[in-house]
Amino acid sequence: MRGTTPRRMQGLADPVLSTMVHDLGLEEVPHYASRSGKVVGYTDRWVENAKFRDGPVNPQRVEVTDRAAMTAQVKAKARELGADLVGICRLTPTMIDLGEEVPHEFVIAACIAEDYHKVLEGADAVEEEAMRVYAACSDLATELAAYVRGLGYPAWAHHNGVREVQAIPVFYQVGFGELGRHGSLINEKYGADFRPGFVTTDLPLDVDEPREFGVQDFCMNCNVCMRNCPGDAIPEEHVVTEGIKRWLIDLEKCYPYSRLRDEYCHLCVDVCPFNVGSHRTTFKTFMKHRKRIGYKTPKY
Ligand code: SF4
Ligand code: SF4
Repeated sequence: MRGTTPRRMQGLADPVLSTMVHDLGLEEVPHYASRSGKVVGYTDRWVENAKFRDGPVNPQRVEVTDRAAMTAQVKAKARELGADLVGICRLTPTMIDLGEEVPHEFVIAACIAEDYHKVLEGADAVEEEAMRVYAACSDLATELAAYVRGLGYPAWAHHNGVREVQAIPVFYQVGFGELGRHGSLINEKYGADFRPGFVTTDLPLDVDEPREFGVQDFCMNCNVCMRNCPGDAIPEEHVVTEGIKRWLIDLEKCYPYSRLRDEYCHLCVDVCPFNVGSHRTTFKTFMKHRKRIGYKTPKY
């Protein structure tokens, strides 16, 4: 199956960011140039895992006579490997990067939650936590793909080190939640505080369904991320594609805060009521710190 969705490029491969960096007379993206040794270590881990995204398939195939039982078995394995959320759907061209081929019928999404309390340790700690979880997801996806191949079915791991799968359309289809105004998918339990790994495969599995719980309606009246974005990069108006509202972030306004300074931004997600949840005390302490370093005070 050939993909139809363009992937947003990262770093200097992103034409908007590249132009901004060069207009400032810089050679590198300031945020990436200042990354800690820990973050570099996590990056190395998913690069290493990429070498093992595929491998030999067990010729002694386990025949699937009970799809529901096999689905439960695979989901239990993903949870044993550390997943907090697991969902399955049929792969479609819009879930695959433009022009890339993925020869499988299903995609398994396995996500690991981040620790919201890291916000108390500062923006760099929030980023380190994100990278730690991305690395853990690359371990998870690699091991889960190997497990599926051990059952006798082809399977590829997809994660930060190697991927053709687009996260948002898969998250929506497997029922993890709905797209929020800040551009990330919001889950009922974890807000947008989770990172993914994926496995594509031909193992016959039961699929999950999209599940809405009122996020997009809530966003229409909430606007907290929009009002607190330091770059005013989050729009009031939305577009509708395939029946889903999307608020398109203005990257030229976002990048001065999220890429062209040393500290991580991520504020739109960190102030979202679905992320804050029951962590109000942590949130208030975190925002005092953000205010000291020049961010706006959040308004509810
Ligand atoms: S990352 Fe920061 S600047 Fe970018 S949209 Fe979110 S809050 Fe705004
Ligand atoms: S802060 Fe409010 S408007 Fe923004 S994504 Fe979260 S719920 Fe939606």
